[in-house]
Formats: sequence, structure tokens, C-alpha cells
Amino acid sequence: MTNLILLGPPGAGKGTQARMLTESVGLLQLSTGDLLREAVAKGTKAGEAAKQVMEAGDLVSNEIVIAIVNDRLDLPDVEAGVIFDGFPRTVVQAEALDKLLKAKAMKLDFVVSLDVQDAAMIERISGRYTCAGCGEGYHDTKKVPANVDICDSCGESNFKRRADDNAATVAERLKAYHAETAPLIEYYRNKGLLFRIDAMGDIVAISDQLKELVSKTN
Ligand code: ADP
Ligand code: ZN
Repeated sequence: MTNLILLGPPGAGKGTQARMLTESVGLLQLSTGDLLREAVAKGTKAGEAAKQVMEAGDLVSNEIVIAIVNDRLDLPDVEAGVIFDGFPRTVVQAEALDKLLKAKAMKLDFVVSLDVQDAAMIERISGRYTCAGCGEGYHDTKKVPANVDICDSCGESNFKRRADDNAATVAERLKAYHAETAPLIEYYRNKGLLFRIDAMGDIVAISDQLKELVSKTN
């Protein structure tokens, strides 16, 4: 089983690629964004602390996020191998992950930076929405279902948009990415774990490159 990290700014396609890898090679997607949104929806203590921070496009505290990842890694399904999506997002989180993996006798196989241009990210994110049934991703202009009201994948007719997918918040999230997360590229390059993929192109071509990397470590 392979454990890997997907790095990249909001809109780079981490979630999309993680979903595709989950379907093709059976790895588990561990998205801290999804886990935090779940905590917000459930109204847990962590969720309450995270809600406003997320709506402003800022980073939730390292303490909360690390605790959430620690708990998630204790569930048995991580044995399939894990795609870390949206974590780590700061050097403190990366160091914490090193320790967590060691304590749980897990190993990080590689890290992929999905390289994109900021200018395109605002447009990608501002138009995106997902199926409420199966989570399939869509976009107002780039990817609409064949029948606009019905999900291509599962037939569901309810769709949802994230509260933080608006132009103002996206600009904040990009700022946070460059200040806090981009230094991780260097962090993992120094560990000899980094691969870079041009993520402006075709979704399937990017997915094929990721699958190829996974097959080399599986
Ligand atoms: P995106 O990468 O598209 O911005 P995510 O779903 O990964 O979306 O994250 C949404 C929000 O959740 C972030 O803007 C941030 O507020 C919070 N968040 C998610 N992961 C982390 C993390 N590892 N550390 C701090 N905050 C996080
Ligand atoms: Zn669906």
C-alpha cells in the first residue's frame, strides 16, 4: 500500500485526482477539508472553532487539524494506503505528520506537487459544485452534466456548493497557500520525496501520471 501527499493550491485538482485514484487503485482519500466540513456540519467543538476561519479562507489551527488527522489514522481502513489531500498545509503540520506516521508504523512513499497558475484557479473554484449524492465534481462552464439537473454518475438531482467557493475567499486561500503551504515543496524536495506534475492540462492525463507513480511504489 502506498501513502502519498497531494500538494497544490485550492483548485489545483487535489480532490478530483484523489477521487480518481481511490476508484482506480483503491487508496483512501484523507481530506482535512472534508473532515473539517463534517465537523462543522455535526457542530463538534473542533467544528465550531473551525467554521468562521474556513469561511474567511484562513487556515484552521495546526492543533485542531493534527488532532483530526491523528484520529482518522487510527481507523483500520488506512491500511489500504492513504492519499493526504489538503494536509499537511504548514511546516508544523508536515513535522507532525512525520511523527504520526512513525508512531503508527506507516511510511510516506512520495509527494506530488500539482503545479498550476493562480489566475486560472479563481475561475475554476468560483464555478465549481458537486453532486450531493456521490460527490462527483462539476463546473458551471467547464463541466456540466449531460442533463443539467441530473448527476452523470449517480442520477441524483441535488447539487451543492461550498460556502468558501467565492472569489473573495478564494483570494485569501491562495494567499494562505503561498505563505504557509508552498514552502512544503522545498521541505519534501529535501527529503527526496517530491514529484511535480503540470496540472493545467487534461484531468485524465494527470490521473494517468499519478497512477504510474503509485504503481511504482505498490
Ligand atoms: P481547498 O484546498 O480547495 O482550499 P480544502 O477543502 O482542502 O479546500 O480546505 C478548505 C478549508 O479548510 C481551508 O481553506 C482551511 O480553512 C481548512 N483546512 C483544510 N485543511 C487544512 C489544514 N491542513 N490546515 C489548516 N486548515 C485547513
Ligand atoms: Zn452523483
